[in-house]
Amino acid sequence: MRIQTLDLNFLNSKHVLSSYLVETDPPFLIETGPDSTFENLKTALNKAGYEIKDIKNVFITHIHLDHSGAAFRFASEGAKIYVHPNGKKHLVNPDRLIRSATMVYKERTRELWGDTLPIDEEKVIETSDEQIVTIGNVQVRVIESPGHAKHHNVYLIEDHLFTGDTGGVRINDGPIMPAVPPPDIDIPLWLKTIEKMKSLKPTYICPSHFGCFDDALDHLEILKENLIKYDEFIRKQIKFSDDYNTLFPIFKEYVDSFFTDKKVRDFYQFANPDEMNLAGLIRYAKVNKFDVK
Ligand SMILES: [Zn+2]
Repeated sequence: MRIQTLDLNFLNSKHVLSSYLVETDPPFLIETGPDSTFENLKTALNKAGYEIKDIKNVFITHIHLDHSGAAFRFASEGAKIYVHPNGKKHLVNPDRLIRSATMVYKERTRELWGDTLPIDEEKVIETSDEQIVTIGNVQVRVIESPGHAKHHNVYLIEDHLFTGDTGGVRINDGPIMPAVPPPDIDIPLWLKTIEKMKSLKPTYICPSHFGCFDDALDHLEILKENLIKYDEFIRKQIKFSDDYNTLFPIFKEYVDSFFTDKKVRDFYQFANPDEMNLAGLIRYAKVNKFDVK
């Protein structure tokens, strides 16, 4: 077995968005990225010696379009798509996914994400927590991982943990940052998921943004600290205002304080935009009534 990180060159930027190729017989993928980077994925697969139709199995960590948008292209060539049970209906009927993306990204939706077409129901395989899926000589352990989204799985293969967005975002040598978009953010639940991930004792952690790192347990500890900081930030600010436009400059400055390199900060903005994160935190605070004075 060999694991390769495939760079999807999202928005022509390196190290923002990945898919992982696991080489066994047959080879399989973890994450497809969005349809807008499908040609880049195809090129990367060809370079590794494979055609799209060679991929018979695809594991999706969660259904957000930057992780799952191109899955329909593999399904239409015969691949099975493995997904958390809460995600299945949105792959079979992506209307709601497209609608919420359009609400956020408006006229840029197509440019950013490409097409998102329905997948035949029989091609979408619902996973269950602690299930082991065997592909070739590789065992994929499925672990349900709520916190970032209700439809999130992480996957353990030997000592590699593939964390989607539940392991945060870590690009180049930048900080390990939470990704907290609406609507599902639940920080206490996420902290429990972090403990669960630590108990698996992985050596490598592979967030989809971006690449594998060999310090999984330290990584998870830092993510935990930063999630707690985000929680404290929104609990404090929401008492003063729950208005997005009022909070935005304060949040932006707060996020800046995690970074020493402005260029690295810009890459994070592509993978994990401030706008989404602040909207997610405000929603989280309101759902939990932190705004009640
Ligand atoms: Zn993502």
